[in-house]
Amino acid sequence: MTFYQQLLENNKAWVEEKLSQDADFFENLAKGQQPAVLWIGCSDSRVPAEKVTGVEPGEMFVHRNIANVVVHTDMNVLSVLDYAINVLKVKYIIVCGHYGCGGVQGALLDKPIGLIDNWLRHIKDVKKRHEAELAECKDDTERLNKLVELNVQAQVANIRNTSLWQDANANEEAPVIHGWVHNLKTGLIKELC
Ligand SMILES: [Zn+2]
Repeated sequence: MTFYQQLLENNKAWVEEKLSQDADFFENLAKGQQPAVLWIGCSDSRVPAEKVTGVEPGEMFVHRNIANVVVHTDMNVLSVLDYAINVLKVKYIIVCGHYGCGGVQGALLDKPIGLIDNWLRHIKDVKKRHEAELAECKDDTERLNKLVELNVQAQVANIRNTSLWQDANANEEAPVIHGWVHNLKTGLIKELC
């Protein structure tokens, strides 16, 4: 069986497992969603939002891109934020980066890669704002992990600076924003801000 075929087999097994625990699981799920959390994370395959936080389908609204970046002109992330804040009325927004992030590393090394350079530009801007702090790091690993943290903090600030969040905040309906970093080596999450 190919890995591709295995995915469909896994799906059937998962459906059976869910139905054995709750015969109405999918019927109820199909009625609608009321997730309390919007997750903005990296596309990295090693940080699956639902798995690392142990939530079930329907509990988390998820947006992922390379290096968990919130860009004020990105209609994709703005639409997700709009829907999460104004329709789903989520209580929390979590920006979750991860140590050893390839996207952040690409921004740190600052060597031309290709199209993605334009996306990484946003992280290079974060790097530029914190040059002195990054220069104090004892080695490249510490520098990368520092920039991962600074990037999460910058994206939390970017969410706060959207008109979407500020309008919700004016109505005292804004979700609380948290910045997290996932550690690939331990599986554990660190609360940053
Ligand atoms: Zn990453």
